[in-house]
This record gives sequence, structure tokens and C-alpha cells, in this order.
Amino acid sequence: MRKKIVAGNWKMNLNYDEAVALYNDLKNGVELMDQEIKVIIAPSAIYLSEFSQSKNSRIALAAQNCNENKNGAYTGEISPSMLAALGIQYCLVGHSERRAYFKESNELLKLKIDALLANSVAPIYCFGEVLAEREAGNHFNLVKDQISKALFHLDEEEILKVIFAYEPVWAIGTGVTANPDQAEEMHGFVRELLAEKYDQSIADEISILYGGSCKPSNAKELFANSDVDGGLIGGAALKAETFIPVINGFRE
Ligand code: PEP
Repeated sequence: MRKKIVAGNWKMNLNYDEAVALYNDLKNGVELMDQEIKVIIAPSAIYLSEFSQSKNSRIALAAQNCNENKNGAYTGEISPSMLAALGIQYCLVGHSERRAYFKESNELLKLKIDALLANSVAPIYCFGEVLAEREAGNHFNLVKDQISKALFHLDEEEILKVIFAYEPVWAIGTGVTANPDQAEEMHGFVRELLAEKYDQSIADEISILYGGSCKPSNAKELFANSDVDGGLIGGAALKAETFIPVINGFRE
């Protein structure tokens, strides 16, 4: 059975006191929850070191980005081996904000994926279309391209380590959510791609998260879809009062 996962992307939000307060609130809130659901947060990189020392936390940590190189003269960057040395288990790759503002291409993301896997850090690979691509009916082709260019060189053992996150760009931070049918349709399409490239048993093992204005009021109906294995949450991950009810969207 594939994992159910809810991951919170804090982006460039929360100063130190706020970040620590939220982390503590989440630790307390998540402690008693269903162990079946994996909870991950991706805070600003400067908090990873401190949070990674927290004992007995059920909350796994993700970086929001990494550099594709091993080490060297790349001022301001963080390598996968630095993340691994702190015990960071996950790293977001290809978030639409990085694709848009930092011009990250599928070819570059492929290198980041390889560098992370070489250091046993699991990539959370984000992909999804902008509104114009959906309106032009090009969203399936685009997603296929994003996935095949960055991931389809991986072997079976490697692809099983990747968490997929479908994030339609028109739904990120806009308050507009893909309806459950739109989410399920794309997740089903991605699973079919995986079955064609690898095989059905591999496709059935891989978690595909939905991201884009997922919040307490819609998490339950999104997570009820058979191919939606959880969520990547932005705005609603910034408060325990909203993030915990999103995780609870798996209940009932
Ligand atoms: C995100 O940025 O990954 C995201 C899903 O943001 P939001 O939930 O705010 O739309």
C-alpha cells in the first residue's frame, strides 16, 4: 500500500520565533495522529539544522531546494550531501515558483533529482500546468514532458523513492482549487504514465500528492480520490489550526 502523505511548504515565511512556535504546535498536534499518515514540513533552510535535532518528532523535514553540484564555489547554495548530513529526508524539486522565478528547467531538475538520490534524500517532484496550457488543452502533454524529462531516466529502485506532487499553477496561492475530478483525472494520467514506463506494481506504489489551495474545507474530498495520496500545502501549512485539519482530511 502506498503512503499517505501531507507535506507543508512554508516557502519564505515565518521569522525564527514564529517558525519555532509553529513547529512546536505541529509536533504536539501530530503526535497523537494516525501513524499511517506521513507528515512532512519544508521550512526555510536556516531552520533545518535546529529542527533536525528535535527528538521523537513524527514530523519529517524537507528542504525547499538544493543545488545539483556536489560542493564548490556556488555562493548561497546548499548541497544534497549537506542535507543528508543533517538527516533531512526529503527535498522539494521543481516547485512552480522555482520554475517561474529562477528559470529552473526540466533538464536542471533532472540533475537535482540525481544529486538528491545519490545522497539518499527523497525528491518531492512538483509539476503542473499554467492556466493557458489547461485552456489550450495542452496540460496532459506538458505534465508528461515535465515528468519524462526529469525522471524517466531513473531505474525502478530509484523512481520508487520519488514522491510526485501535481500542482496546477493556476491553483497555487490563488484560492482556486482543482476540483476533485480534475485532480483525480491528472493523478490517474500520471499513474498510467508510470505504469507504461515501469509497470503497474511500481505505479501503484508511488504516492502522488495534490497541491494548490488545499485547505481544511476541501482536503477531505480531494483526498477521497483513489489516486490522490495526500497533499502539498502552502498557505494552510503556516498555521497549526489549518494544517492539522488538512491532515485530518484523511479521516472519517
Ligand atoms: C504550494 O505552493 O506548493 C501550494 C500548494 O500553495 P497553496 O497551498 O498556498 O496554494
